[in-house]
Order: sequence, then C-alpha cells, then structure tokens
Amino acid sequence: MTHFSDLVDGYYRFRGGEWLEERERWSELAEGQSPKVMIIACSDSRVDPATIFGSRPGEVFVVRNVAALVPPFDASGGLHGVSAALEFAVTKLGVEEILVLGHGACGGVHAALTGSLSGSKPGEGGFVAEWIGLLDEARERVVAEHGTGEDGQAALEQEGVRVSIANLKTFPFVQSALRDGKLTIHGAVFAIRDGKLRVLEDSDSFVPA
Ligand SMILES: [Zn+2]
Repeated sequence: MTHFSDLVDGYYRFRGGEWLEERERWSELAEGQSPKVMIIACSDSRVDPATIFGSRPGEVFVVRNVAALVPPFDASGGLHGVSAALEFAVTKLGVEEILVLGHGACGGVHAALTGSLSGSKPGEGGFVAEWIGLLDEARERVVAEHGTGEDGQAALEQEGVRVSIANLKTFPFVQSALRDGKLTIHGAVFAIRDGKLRVLEDSDSFVPA
C-alpha cells in the first residue's frame, strides 16, 4: 500500500535523480507548456496515461474523471471542470490532437451498466450516478444488444468513448478547430487485464494498436 509518506519518499528519489538529470528541460518547462496532445482519461489508479504512453512532463495535457467522460457543450452556467480544461487546451494551448481513453474493468462504466447507484443521494453515490448519466442513452443500446454481463461491460467501455467524442464535437471551438484542420480526435480503450490498447479506427470499430 502506498501512502502520502511513501509518495514523499518517491519525491526525494525524483529530486535526486530524474529532476537533476533533466534540469535543463525543467527550466524550459518553467517558462510555459506547449503540449500537442490532450488526453481525457479515467481517474482509475491503474490507467495513468503517462505510464501507459511513456510521456514526459510537458508533453500531454491530461484531464481525468470518473469513466473518462466529456459532457456536451452547455452554456447555461455551472461548474464545468472538463469543459474548462477542454476550452483551455483547444483555444489557448492549441493542442492538435485529443485522445479519449477508456479502459477495461471501469467501475464508473460498470455502475452505469448495472444502474447500481441509481437513485443514490449526493455523498452516497449520487454524484457518480448523476455524472455517469452521460452514458444513459448508450447504456440502453448496449444492454439491448449485449446484456449487463462482461460483453455489455466491454461494449459500454467502447461506447462511452464514442459518446465522449460525440460530445466533444458539440463544443463550438472544437467544431471550428476540426473544420480548420487544426484538430484531430482519437478514441482508445486500454485493457488492464492484458495490457492491450485498442484504437477506434473509423468511429466504428476498435482495433489493436
Ligand atoms: Zn474507469
């Protein structure tokens, strides 16, 4: 088990090793960031994008949340963390690619699939239930075709990536970046069990990378 004290030990190793070795790079990064890729991933502790892709500091702009979801564009107010990060990445950083990264054994997707949290109060699962409501429509389609077992779980993990990509395309600044050829959107699912990455090819099928 790792606790904060273990993380501080890790920090000492980092400061004495990697940070020293790449000191020049860190002073460049102190001037600003210019990542070319944004990744929207799940908060799940097993799917850290930097670990999976071997990216270095400054290379990837990351947003993580329950089930790697993007809500649709909504200008009616409210606290929109994902939308804020997306707006910053696309309009200020000018990222050229966005990857929506789903994953196997996703608890958020499982709760959406089984409806296990539906009707819960905030603080008792209600926040998650509300958030994964973004998958409600997809869930209907998936359950009708694949049921609520393992096949349904895998199908909804993939469908969730498609939903988030469709929602990305409801943001006007994403639409114009796509129109101008300045932005490309990708989807993928990382399977924890076998370590395989499957990439969404033509908005239709996921194929091994
Ligand atoms: Zn997850």
